[in-house]
Amino acid sequence: MKEFIFYNPTQIVFGENQTKNIGRYLRNKKCLFLYGGTSIKQNGIYNKVMDSLKKNNVAFVEKSGVKPNPVLSFVYEAIELAKKENIDCIIAAGGGSVIDSAKTIAAGFYYDGDVWDFFIDKAQIKQALPIYVVLTLAATASEMNSGAVITNEKTKQKFNIRGDALFPKISILDPTNTYTVPKNHVANGSVDAIVHLLEGYFTKKYLSTPIQDGFVETLVKTIISSTKQILKEPENYDARANFMWSATLALNGLTTAGIGAYAFPNHMMGHSISALFDIAHGSTLSIVFPAWLKYNKDNLSQRLQRFGKEVFGIDNPDKAIEGLESFFASIGAPTKLKDVGLAQTDIEAIAQNAVSLAQKWGLNEYTKEKIASILKFAL
Ligand code: NAP
Ligand code: FE
Repeated sequence: MKEFIFYNPTQIVFGENQTKNIGRYLRNKKCLFLYGGTSIKQNGIYNKVMDSLKKNNVAFVEKSGVKPNPVLSFVYEAIELAKKENIDCIIAAGGGSVIDSAKTIAAGFYYDGDVWDFFIDKAQIKQALPIYVVLTLAATASEMNSGAVITNEKTKQKFNIRGDALFPKISILDPTNTYTVPKNHVANGSVDAIVHLLEGYFTKKYLSTPIQDGFVETLVKTIISSTKQILKEPENYDARANFMWSATLALNGLTTAGIGAYAFPNHMMGHSISALFDIAHGSTLSIVFPAWLKYNKDNLSQRLQRFGKEVFGIDNPDKAIEGLESFFASIGAPTKLKDVGLAQTDIEAIAQNAVSLAQKWGLNEYTKEKIASILKFAL
């Protein structure tokens, strides 16, 4: 076991009918109630949160309009509103895009400079407003981690921040709140959570990690089986619950504690595809990850052998990659650049964009040429 610090202060409130309790945690506070488009109004989550806030005399200001692949200009607007209204907490009702925007607003509230400074490592986050999450889409684990990803539309950079102050205080995980998530976003979430687990599993060098390997394999298997069930039966409580908790555990620090150094090269390339073409995060990963595995196949043959055996019951590295790629395709996730309208001629721009993120993340071996070679496996 390598040395590690595991710190995760987020309180999880899991189960059916928990949404109506959000107001209890917020008495005597003034909140920014943040959400995305129309989904929470259509599925009743908005009314449940509103009723609970009113019942508990919570003061609030509403701000809607967070878009998937959330953008910096929206965050600027919301920080201004939060300062003007002198709020003291944020309610984030949504998926990763809403939660990540909430985290960035929370940090920007206490910072006099440009909040983008945090993303380009010009400043460090020291303080943030407390965040209370009502999760509506299982995928990112942003509900139980300290990271956020935002796109600067002007510079075409999709960059991230991290800071202990950004862990949500409380996250309400009610699986029934995800019954209405459409199939394409179930697929995106499934791919995202699986790739969160496998980035560490396949990039670490230290392999004496039976606990962490077992966690990852069990979570991947659970995500695969629950995704299949959800697509057939969207209101299957157990499938939604198993999927939701697996996605949270996939990136809350648990599965990587003790594994030593690891990296997120697939997220690095995926973020560039989203930054340039506004393609959903999960869809970028279902394209990039099989390509990355194929490029690295020889170096990873032992890991692939184990992965294939444990997850798919097959004893061959090539078949392991095939197994994962065909699972992605079977749930409707794109697995080639052409599936999202991109072609060989786009590779140069993606690779160019990805290099700056590779440098920020210390992935210096990922040159433009290497990234382009990996992406060619996705043609
Ligand atoms: P999302 O972008 O938050 O939401 C995608 C779509 O799902 C939205 O259009 C939303 O519609 C809809 N939706 C959400 N809940 C719904 C529900 N219950 N019923 C019906 N529709 C619903 O998706 P996400 O995958 O959770 O977040 C993706 C973002 O998170 C990306 O920017 C990605 O880079 C980032 N991310 C962050 C982390 C992290 O650790 N912080 C990790 C991985 C990825 P409405 O707008 O109408 O609500
Ligand atoms: Fe992700």
